[in-house]
Amino acid sequence: MTSTERPFLNRSLAEFGTTIFAEMSALAVRTGAINLGQGFPDTDGPEEIREAAVRALRDGRGNQYPPGPGVPELRTAIAAHQERRYGLAFDPDTEVLVTAGATEAIAAALLALLEPGDEVVALEPYYDSYAACIAMAGGRRVPVTLRPDGDAFRLDLDELRAAVTDRTRLLLVNTPHNPTGTVLTRAELAAVAELAVERDLLVVTDEVYEHLVFDGAEHLPLASFPGMRERTVTIGSAGKTFSFTGWKVGWVTAAPGLVTAVRSAKQYLTYVASGPFQYAVAEALALPESYFAAFRADMLAKRDLLAAGLAEAGFGVFRPTGTYFVTTDVRPLGESDGVAFCRALPERAGVVAIPNAVFYDHREEGAPFVRFAFCKRTGVLEEAVRRLKALAG
Ligand SMILES: *Cc1c(COP(=O)(O)O)cnc(C)c1O
Repeated sequence: MTSTERPFLNRSLAEFGTTIFAEMSALAVRTGAINLGQGFPDTDGPEEIREAAVRALRDGRGNQYPPGPGVPELRTAIAAHQERRYGLAFDPDTEVLVTAGATEAIAAALLALLEPGDEVVALEPYYDSYAACIAMAGGRRVPVTLRPDGDAFRLDLDELRAAVTDRTRLLLVNTPHNPTGTVLTRAELAAVAELAVERDLLVVTDEVYEHLVFDGAEHLPLASFPGMRERTVTIGSAGKTFSFTGWKVGWVTAAPGLVTAVRSAKQYLTYVASGPFQYAVAEALALPESYFAAFRADMLAKRDLLAAGLAEAGFGVFRPTGTYFVTTDVRPLGESDGVAFCRALPERAGVVAIPNAVFYDHREEGAPFVRFAFCKRTGVLEEAVRRLKALAG
Protein backbone atom coordinates (compact mmCIF):
# COMPACT_ATOMS: atom_id res chain seq x y z
CA MET A 1 0.00 0.00 0.00
CA THR A 2 1.32 3.43 -0.84
CA SER A 3 1.07 6.23 1.66
CA THR A 4 -1.91 7.72 -0.12
CA GLU A 5 -3.71 4.38 -0.41
CA ARG A 6 -3.43 3.74 3.30
CA PRO A 7 -6.38 5.32 5.22
CA PHE A 8 -5.44 8.81 6.32
CA LEU A 9 -7.34 8.67 9.58
CA ASN A 10 -5.47 6.51 12.07
CA ARG A 11 -6.89 3.41 13.68
CA SER A 12 -7.68 5.00 17.04
CA LEU A 13 -9.98 7.56 15.39
CA ALA A 14 -11.33 5.52 12.47
CA GLU A 15 -14.65 4.80 14.20
CA PHE A 16 -15.26 8.51 14.83
CA GLY A 17 -15.65 9.75 11.23
CA THR A 18 -17.90 12.81 11.45
CA THR A 19 -20.18 13.74 14.29
CA ILE A 20 -23.93 13.44 14.04
CA PHE A 21 -24.10 17.20 14.70
CA ALA A 22 -22.52 17.97 11.33
CA GLU A 23 -25.02 15.74 9.52
CA MET A 24 -28.05 17.05 11.40
CA SER A 25 -27.05 20.71 11.21
CA ALA A 26 -26.56 20.35 7.44
CA LEU A 27 -30.03 18.80 7.26
CA ALA A 28 -31.45 21.73 9.22
CA VAL A 29 -29.90 24.21 6.80
CA ARG A 30 -31.02 22.28 3.72
CA THR A 31 -34.63 21.89 4.89
CA GLY A 32 -35.04 25.14 6.83
CA ALA A 33 -35.92 23.11 9.92
CA ILE A 34 -35.73 24.43 13.48
CA ASN A 35 -32.50 23.09 14.94
CA LEU A 36 -33.07 21.64 18.41
CA GLY A 37 -30.14 19.31 17.83
CA GLN A 38 -26.99 20.98 19.02
CA GLY A 39 -26.92 22.43 22.53
CA PHE A 40 -26.11 26.08 22.20
CA PRO A 41 -28.33 29.03 23.13
CA ASP A 42 -29.74 31.28 20.39
CA THR A 43 -29.29 34.38 22.52
CA ASP A 44 -26.06 35.71 24.04
CA GLY A 45 -25.29 35.90 27.74
CA PRO A 46 -25.33 39.02 29.95
CA GLU A 47 -24.63 42.32 28.24
CA GLU A 48 -22.25 43.48 30.98
CA ILE A 49 -20.13 40.38 30.48
CA ARG A 50 -19.95 41.00 26.73
CA GLU A 51 -18.89 44.54 27.58
CA ALA A 52 -16.25 43.21 29.97
CA ALA A 53 -14.76 41.23 27.07
CA VAL A 54 -14.77 44.34 24.86
CA ARG A 55 -13.10 46.32 27.64
CA ALA A 56 -10.38 43.70 28.12
CA LEU A 57 -9.73 43.63 24.40
CA ARG A 58 -9.55 47.46 24.16
CA ASP A 59 -7.36 47.70 27.26
CA GLY A 60 -4.92 45.22 25.75
CA ARG A 61 -5.55 42.58 28.40
CA GLY A 62 -5.16 39.07 27.00
CA ASN A 63 -4.44 40.04 23.41
CA GLN A 64 -1.06 38.36 23.73
CA TYR A 65 -0.44 34.88 25.16
CA PRO A 66 -1.91 34.84 28.65
CA PRO A 67 -0.08 32.84 31.37
CA GLY A 68 -0.16 29.06 30.81
CA PRO A 69 -2.36 28.24 33.82
CA GLY A 70 -4.78 31.09 32.98
CA VAL A 71 -4.89 34.74 34.04
CA PRO A 72 -4.70 35.20 37.84
CA GLU A 73 -8.02 37.12 37.92
CA LEU A 74 -9.86 34.13 36.46
CA ARG A 75 -8.08 31.50 38.55
CA THR A 76 -8.96 33.50 41.67
CA ALA A 77 -12.59 33.83 40.52
CA ILE A 78 -12.86 30.07 39.86
CA ALA A 79 -11.47 29.27 43.31
CA ALA A 80 -13.85 31.79 44.92
CA HIS A 81 -16.81 30.27 43.05
CA GLN A 82 -15.99 26.73 44.26
CA GLU A 83 -15.54 27.98 47.81
CA ARG A 84 -18.70 30.09 47.87
CA ARG A 85 -20.99 27.48 46.34
CA TYR A 86 -19.58 24.23 47.63
CA GLY A 87 -17.19 25.08 50.46
CA LEU A 88 -14.32 23.60 48.40
CA ALA A 89 -11.07 25.52 48.84
CA PHE A 90 -8.61 25.46 45.92
CA ASP A 91 -5.36 27.37 45.72
CA PRO A 92 -5.66 29.54 42.59
CA ASP A 93 -1.92 29.17 41.94
CA THR A 94 -1.52 25.41 42.19
CA GLU A 95 -4.99 23.87 42.00
CA VAL A 96 -6.74 25.70 39.16
CA LEU A 97 -6.06 25.45 35.42
CA VAL A 98 -7.85 27.40 32.69
CA THR A 99 -8.48 25.46 29.46
CA ALA A 100 -9.94 26.00 25.98
CA GLY A 101 -13.41 25.02 27.10
CA ALA A 102 -14.33 21.87 28.96
CA THR A 103 -13.55 20.01 25.74
CA GLU A 104 -9.83 20.64 26.12
CA ALA A 105 -9.99 19.91 29.83
CA ILE A 106 -11.47 16.46 29.09
CA ALA A 107 -8.87 15.75 26.40
CA ALA A 108 -5.92 16.98 28.47
CA ALA A 109 -7.04 15.08 31.57
CA LEU A 110 -7.41 11.79 29.70
CA LEU A 111 -4.17 12.24 27.73
CA ALA A 112 -2.31 13.08 30.92
CA LEU A 113 -3.72 10.45 33.26
CA LEU A 114 -4.05 7.31 31.11
CA GLU A 115 -1.46 4.76 30.08
CA PRO A 116 -2.23 2.74 26.94
CA GLY A 117 -4.56 -0.11 27.88
CA ASP A 118 -5.94 1.55 31.01
CA GLU A 119 -9.68 1.12 31.38
CA VAL A 120 -12.00 4.07 31.84
CA VAL A 121 -15.43 3.40 33.27
CA ALA A 122 -17.87 5.98 31.92
CA LEU A 123 -21.61 6.54 32.04
CA GLU A 124 -23.36 5.65 28.79
CA PRO A 125 -24.82 7.50 26.88
CA TYR A 126 -21.61 9.57 26.74
CA TYR A 127 -21.00 13.20 25.92
CA ASP A 128 -19.70 12.94 22.37
CA SER A 129 -16.02 13.73 22.96
CA TYR A 130 -15.42 11.15 25.71
CA ALA A 131 -15.09 8.06 23.54
CA ALA A 132 -12.79 9.76 21.04
CA CYS A 133 -10.55 11.23 23.78
CA ILE A 134 -10.27 7.90 25.59
CA ALA A 135 -9.27 6.36 22.25
CA MET A 136 -6.71 9.09 21.52
CA ALA A 137 -5.19 8.48 24.94
CA GLY A 138 -4.93 4.76 24.16
CA GLY A 139 -7.43 3.87 26.88
CA ARG A 140 -10.28 1.37 26.77
CA ARG A 141 -13.77 2.56 27.53
CA VAL A 142 -16.03 0.46 29.69
CA PRO A 143 -19.60 1.75 29.56
CA VAL A 144 -22.09 1.61 32.39
CA THR A 145 -25.51 2.21 30.91
CA LEU A 146 -27.97 4.62 32.47
CA ARG A 147 -31.38 2.96 32.16
CA PRO A 148 -34.89 4.37 31.99
CA ASP A 149 -36.68 4.09 35.31
CA GLY A 150 -40.02 5.88 35.43
CA ASP A 151 -39.54 9.36 33.99
CA ALA A 152 -35.74 9.48 34.41
CA PHE A 153 -32.56 7.57 33.58
CA ARG A 154 -30.76 6.09 36.57
CA LEU A 155 -27.35 4.66 37.35
CA ASP A 156 -27.24 1.04 38.51
CA LEU A 157 -24.63 1.05 41.27
CA ASP A 158 -24.12 -2.72 41.14
CA GLU A 159 -23.33 -2.49 37.42
CA LEU A 160 -20.93 0.34 38.15
CA ARG A 161 -19.16 -1.75 40.79
CA ALA A 162 -19.01 -4.75 38.46
CA ALA A 163 -17.47 -2.65 35.66
CA VAL A 164 -14.35 -1.89 37.72
CA THR A 165 -11.46 -4.31 37.15
CA ASP A 166 -7.78 -4.39 38.09
CA ARG A 167 -7.09 -2.48 34.88
CA THR A 168 -9.45 0.40 35.68
CA ARG A 169 -7.54 3.66 36.11
CA LEU A 170 -10.36 6.16 36.26
CA LEU A 171 -14.04 6.84 36.44
CA LEU A 172 -15.36 9.45 34.03
CA VAL A 173 -18.52 10.95 35.48
CA ASN A 174 -20.88 13.61 34.13
CA THR A 175 -23.51 15.22 36.34
CA PRO A 176 -25.86 16.92 35.50
CA HIS A 177 -25.78 14.42 32.66
CA ASN A 178 -25.96 15.18 28.95
CA PRO A 179 -28.01 13.84 27.12
CA THR A 180 -30.35 12.26 29.72
CA GLY A 181 -30.81 15.26 32.05
CA THR A 182 -30.13 13.04 35.07
CA VAL A 183 -28.61 14.65 38.16
CA LEU A 184 -26.85 12.08 40.33
CA THR A 185 -28.24 12.09 43.87
CA ARG A 186 -26.25 12.45 47.06
CA ALA A 187 -26.58 8.72 47.72
CA GLU A 188 -25.42 7.80 44.20
CA LEU A 189 -22.46 10.15 44.38
CA ALA A 190 -21.54 8.83 47.83
CA ALA A 191 -21.51 5.31 46.37
CA VAL A 192 -19.37 6.42 43.41
CA ALA A 193 -16.96 8.08 45.85
CA GLU A 194 -16.81 5.01 48.07
CA LEU A 195 -16.03 2.83 45.07
CA ALA A 196 -13.30 5.20 43.88
CA VAL A 197 -11.67 5.20 47.30
CA GLU A 198 -12.01 1.44 47.79
CA ARG A 199 -10.52 0.63 44.37
CA ASP A 200 -8.07 3.55 44.45
CA LEU A 201 -9.33 5.12 41.22
CA LEU A 202 -8.92 8.58 39.80
CA VAL A 203 -12.14 10.40 38.93
CA VAL A 204 -12.67 12.92 36.16
CA THR A 205 -16.00 14.66 36.61
CA ASP A 206 -17.61 16.88 34.00
CA GLU A 207 -19.83 19.38 35.81
CA VAL A 208 -20.42 21.97 33.07
CA TYR A 209 -24.17 22.05 33.84
CA GLU A 210 -23.64 22.65 37.57
CA HIS A 211 -25.91 25.71 37.51
CA LEU A 212 -28.72 24.08 35.55
CA VAL A 213 -30.61 21.96 38.06
CA PHE A 214 -34.39 21.96 38.53
CA ASP A 215 -37.20 20.65 40.71
CA GLY A 216 -35.20 20.79 43.93
CA ALA A 217 -32.36 18.64 42.55
CA GLU A 218 -29.02 19.70 43.95
CA HIS A 219 -25.68 19.69 42.17
CA LEU A 220 -23.06 18.18 44.46
CA PRO A 221 -19.45 18.11 43.27
CA LEU A 222 -17.85 14.69 43.60
CA ALA A 223 -14.74 16.40 44.99
CA SER A 224 -16.72 17.29 48.12
CA PHE A 225 -17.22 13.64 49.16
CA PRO A 226 -14.92 11.90 51.68
CA GLY A 227 -11.60 10.80 50.18
CA MET A 228 -12.31 12.51 46.84
CA ARG A 229 -10.49 15.82 47.14
CA GLU A 230 -7.10 14.30 46.27
CA ARG A 231 -8.27 11.93 43.48
CA THR A 232 -10.79 14.05 41.56
CA VAL A 233 -10.32 16.27 38.52
CA THR A 234 -13.36 18.57 38.34
CA ILE A 235 -14.16 20.18 35.01
CA GLY A 236 -16.22 23.35 34.62
CA SER A 237 -16.98 25.78 31.81
CA ALA A 238 -18.36 29.24 31.20
CA GLY A 239 -20.02 28.25 27.94
CA LYS A 240 -23.24 26.77 29.27
CA THR A 241 -23.57 28.80 32.47
CA PHE A 242 -23.14 32.20 30.84
CA SER A 243 -24.43 31.45 27.32
CA PHE A 244 -21.14 32.19 25.58
CA THR A 245 -20.35 28.80 24.09
CA GLY A 246 -18.10 30.38 21.43
CA TRP A 247 -15.66 31.82 23.96
CA LYS A 248 -14.29 28.43 24.97
CA VAL A 249 -13.31 29.19 28.51
CA GLY A 250 -13.21 26.11 30.71
CA TRP A 251 -11.27 25.00 33.77
CA VAL A 252 -9.98 22.24 35.94
CA THR A 253 -9.85 22.24 39.72
CA ALA A 254 -7.90 19.47 41.44
CA ALA A 255 -5.04 18.72 43.81
CA PRO A 256 -1.65 20.16 42.75
CA GLY A 257 -0.22 16.90 41.37
CA LEU A 258 -3.26 16.31 39.18
CA VAL A 259 -3.35 19.89 37.93
CA THR A 260 0.35 19.69 37.07
CA ALA A 261 -0.27 16.48 35.10
CA VAL A 262 -3.24 17.89 33.18
CA ARG A 263 -1.33 21.07 32.50
CA SER A 264 1.55 19.06 31.00
CA ALA A 265 -0.82 17.72 28.33
CA LYS A 266 -2.71 21.01 27.94
CA GLN A 267 0.41 23.02 27.17
CA TYR A 268 0.99 20.98 24.02
CA LEU A 269 -2.62 21.08 22.86
CA THR A 270 -3.47 24.79 22.81
CA TYR A 271 -0.80 26.18 25.16
CA VAL A 272 -3.25 28.97 26.03
CA ALA A 273 -6.60 30.24 24.73
CA SER A 274 -9.34 32.85 24.98
CA GLY A 275 -7.13 35.73 26.31
CA PRO A 276 -9.57 38.66 26.70
CA PHE A 277 -12.50 36.33 27.41
CA GLN A 278 -10.74 35.02 30.50
CA TYR A 279 -11.06 38.46 32.11
CA ALA A 280 -14.73 38.66 31.19
CA VAL A 281 -15.44 35.22 32.63
CA ALA A 282 -13.71 36.25 35.86
CA GLU A 283 -16.38 38.96 36.14
CA ALA A 284 -19.14 36.55 35.16
CA LEU A 285 -18.25 34.12 37.95
CA ALA A 286 -18.60 36.97 40.43
CA LEU A 287 -22.14 37.87 39.26
CA PRO A 288 -24.65 37.96 42.11
CA GLU A 289 -26.76 34.90 42.89
CA SER A 290 -29.70 36.66 41.20
CA TYR A 291 -28.07 36.07 37.79
CA PHE A 292 -27.80 32.33 38.35
CA ALA A 293 -31.34 32.13 39.76
CA ALA A 294 -32.81 34.03 36.80
CA PHE A 295 -30.88 31.87 34.31
CA ARG A 296 -32.19 28.73 35.99
CA ALA A 297 -35.78 30.05 36.09
CA ASP A 298 -35.65 30.98 32.40
CA MET A 299 -34.38 27.53 31.42
CA LEU A 300 -36.94 25.84 33.67
CA ALA A 301 -39.79 27.65 31.89
CA LYS A 302 -38.32 26.54 28.55
CA ARG A 303 -37.98 22.97 29.77
CA ASP A 304 -41.62 22.94 30.83
CA LEU A 305 -42.76 24.41 27.52
CA LEU A 306 -40.85 21.90 25.40
CA ALA A 307 -41.49 18.88 27.63
CA ALA A 308 -45.24 19.53 27.69
CA GLY A 309 -45.30 20.11 23.92
CA LEU A 310 -43.40 16.89 23.23
CA ALA A 311 -45.78 14.93 25.46
CA GLU A 312 -48.76 16.44 23.62
CA ALA A 313 -47.13 15.53 20.32
CA GLY A 314 -47.09 11.91 21.47
CA PHE A 315 -43.49 11.39 22.60
CA GLY A 316 -42.59 9.60 25.79
CA VAL A 317 -40.84 12.32 27.80
CA PHE A 318 -38.13 11.86 30.43
CA ARG A 319 -38.20 14.79 32.79
CA PRO A 320 -34.70 16.30 32.99
CA THR A 321 -33.74 17.65 36.43
CA GLY A 322 -30.57 19.13 34.94
CA THR A 323 -28.92 20.37 31.70
CA TYR A 324 -30.82 21.99 28.82
CA PHE A 325 -31.79 18.79 27.05
CA VAL A 326 -34.87 16.63 27.15
CA THR A 327 -34.63 12.99 26.10
CA THR A 328 -37.73 11.43 24.57
CA ASP A 329 -38.87 7.94 23.62
CA VAL A 330 -40.26 7.65 20.08
CA ARG A 331 -41.96 4.27 20.63
CA PRO A 332 -45.33 5.80 21.62
CA LEU A 333 -45.29 7.35 18.13
CA GLY A 334 -45.05 3.88 16.62
CA GLU A 335 -41.34 4.28 15.86
CA SER A 336 -38.42 2.23 17.13
CA ASP A 337 -35.29 3.57 15.42
CA GLY A 338 -34.29 7.03 16.65
CA VAL A 339 -31.64 7.45 13.95
CA ALA A 340 -34.13 6.88 11.12
CA PHE A 341 -36.67 9.01 12.96
CA CYS A 342 -34.22 11.96 13.26
CA ARG A 343 -33.16 11.66 9.61
CA ALA A 344 -36.81 11.91 8.55
CA LEU A 345 -37.97 14.49 11.11
CA PRO A 346 -36.87 17.65 9.24
CA GLU A 347 -38.97 16.65 6.21
CA ARG A 348 -41.87 15.36 8.28
CA ALA A 349 -42.10 18.14 10.84
CA GLY A 350 -39.47 20.80 10.16
CA VAL A 351 -37.51 20.10 13.36
CA VAL A 352 -34.03 18.69 13.94
CA ALA A 353 -33.22 16.48 16.94
CA ILE A 354 -30.36 14.14 17.82
CA PRO A 355 -30.69 10.34 18.14
CA ASN A 356 -29.23 9.28 21.49
CA ALA A 357 -28.04 5.99 19.95
CA VAL A 358 -24.92 7.77 18.68
CA PHE A 359 -23.86 8.35 22.30
CA TYR A 360 -23.89 4.62 23.13
CA ASP A 361 -21.52 1.70 22.61
CA HIS A 362 -24.55 -0.52 23.11
CA ARG A 363 -26.48 1.15 20.31
CA GLU A 364 -29.54 -1.02 20.86
CA GLU A 365 -29.88 0.38 24.40
CA GLY A 366 -30.25 3.88 23.01
CA ALA A 367 -32.20 3.07 19.84
CA PRO A 368 -35.62 4.55 20.71
CA PHE A 369 -34.33 7.72 22.40
CA VAL A 370 -34.10 11.16 20.84
CA ARG A 371 -32.73 14.36 22.39
CA PHE A 372 -34.12 17.89 21.97
CA ALA A 373 -32.35 21.05 23.24
CA PHE A 374 -34.50 23.70 24.93
CA CYS A 375 -31.90 26.48 25.22
CA LYS A 376 -33.71 28.45 22.49
CA ARG A 377 -35.98 31.50 22.43
CA THR A 378 -39.53 30.90 23.64
CA GLY A 379 -41.00 31.74 20.22
CA VAL A 380 -38.70 29.21 18.55
CA LEU A 381 -39.72 26.49 21.03
CA GLU A 382 -43.41 27.33 20.55
CA GLU A 383 -43.07 27.04 16.79
CA ALA A 384 -41.17 23.75 17.14
CA VAL A 385 -43.94 22.37 19.37
CA ARG A 386 -46.60 23.51 16.90
CA ARG A 387 -44.79 21.66 14.11
CA LEU A 388 -44.17 18.52 16.18
CA LYS A 389 -47.86 18.24 17.07
CA ALA A 390 -48.48 17.44 13.41
CA LEU A 391 -46.87 14.05 14.15
CA ALA A 392 -49.69 13.15 16.54
CA GLY A 393 -52.39 13.87 13.97
C1 LIG B 1 -21.02 21.35 26.06
C2 LIG B 1 -20.36 20.30 26.87
C3 LIG B 1 -18.97 20.26 27.03
C4 LIG B 1 -18.05 21.18 26.28
O1 LIG B 1 -17.91 22.39 26.90
P1 LIG B 1 -17.03 23.56 26.22
O2 LIG B 1 -16.70 24.42 27.37
O3 LIG B 1 -17.87 24.20 25.18
O4 LIG B 1 -15.81 22.92 25.62
C5 LIG B 1 -18.43 19.30 27.85
N1 LIG B 1 -19.21 18.40 28.49
C6 LIG B 1 -20.55 18.39 28.34
C7 LIG B 1 -21.34 17.37 29.07
C8 LIG B 1 -21.17 19.33 27.52
O5 LIG B 1 -22.49 19.28 27.34
